[in-house]
Amino acid sequence: MVDETNPFEEMMQRFDRAAELLRLDSGLYKVLRNPTREITVYLPVIMDDGRIEIFKGFRVQHNIARGPCKGGIRYSPDVTLDEIKALAAWMTWKCAVVNIPFGGAKGGVVCDPSQLTISELEKVTRRYTAEMIDFIGPEKDVPAPDLNTDEQVMAWMMDTYSMHARHTVTAVVTGKPVGLGGSRGRREATGFGLTVIALEALRILNKAPEETRVVIQGYGNVGGTAALLLHQQGFKVVAVSDIHGGIYHRDGLAIPSITRIADAQKIDRITNAELLELSCDILIPAATENQLTSKNADRVRAKIVLEGANGPTTHVADEIFEEKNILVIPDILANAGGVTVSYFEWVQDRYGYFWKDQEVRERLTEVMKMSFGDVLNYAQMHQVTLRTAAYMLAIDRVAHYTKLRGIYA
Ligand code: NAD
Repeated sequence: MVDETNPFEEMMQRFDRAAELLRLDSGLYKVLRNPTREITVYLPVIMDDGRIEIFKGFRVQHNIARGPCKGGIRYSPDVTLDEIKALAAWMTWKCAVVNIPFGGAKGGVVCDPSQLTISELEKVTRRYTAEMIDFIGPEKDVPAPDLNTDEQVMAWMMDTYSMHARHTVTAVVTGKPVGLGGSRGRREATGFGLTVIALEALRILNKAPEETRVVIQGYGNVGGTAALLLHQQGFKVVAVSDIHGGIYHRDGLAIPSITRIADAQKIDRITNAELLELSCDILIPAATENQLTSKNADRVRAKIVLEGANGPTTHVADEIFEEKNILVIPDILANAGGVTVSYFEWVQDRYGYFWKDQEVRERLTEVMKMSFGDVLNYAQMHQVTLRTAAYMLAIDRVAHYTKLRGIYA
């Protein structure tokens, strides 16, 4: 019995199903199922009070068939190697779905950043980077921000790597501040990509934006940006929430005036559980994983679930949605705007020439539209859900190039 909330098992469940439908060669199956490299490091850090603490860090590189590895670094007290392994594989499939020349990786440090001072956080970051120095690099593996890591952490990583290289290497990480090799449009990229897909999905709903009711869980980088951009496109965003709860208005919320959910005035309050079950056209889970599960999926009343978060829907919920004819636009496609602009950042750094906002937006729009079309066609051709189609397409691409390169002995 697969544990619905274990990210590794969830990922493997989807992988196995797609591999079976593709009739993936058993040897290639073994290659793609396992990561290329798992690195565990122990980081000694002198804390502000003079004590020495040890922090455990990971980096998993899942696949390099199509180019350098790409994936975020998370700082969290409950990061595990299993979780990082699943997330690294996820990145391989995500990069392949949007057809960018990267493989997948993920990293993490077991720590609670809220308990660290800024100088301790910097030391953890620099020591982690130094321990990983042989494994990362613009041609090898390019980290990025994830849970509890940000532009500042990326600037420290870039600086540490550069100090060892004895020259500035901006392309070693993405998600850097603009001016230090960061790309315009990176911060909004995931929400922007979701908006492009939502506009494409209107053709399936056969509706204009003004008639389309959207519910969004999570009001951070992804959810907040998507809410604003969808509102600007004319969609009716009827409910939004953060970790403390949500707000609802049947005629649509005045999104630009809502900076913090807690401060919103004269509006109905709802819980996150209620929000997920509201009747709407598009439900965007953009908070965290395992939000739509066997416990609530049969009460979801959306026509489309557009996954902003990674892994918000378990495979059991997927089956319920398929029965109920609810279309799920999967994370590895829907939220790939972020990694796509990370790719643009890496390209601009290597080029030494930076694009305007407009150029980033146009190129991102093209990638998202094309990828959505590819997955939709694949799903129709093979009579499978968009999730299975996205995995099949991704695995097919990676398997093809793995075979073409051959197995080095
Ligand atoms: P964030 O920290 O900026 O925002 C998260 C939001 O979700 C906040 O409003 C928070 O209050 C809310 N939230 C957290 N836990 C919740 C819970 N249990 N119930 C309800 N609300 C909760 O994070 P983000 O960057 O917007 O990322 C959100 C999700 O999108 C994550 O799954 C992340 O992995 C995924 N993602 C992010 C990016 C990106 O570019 N930032 C790219 C791809 C995927």
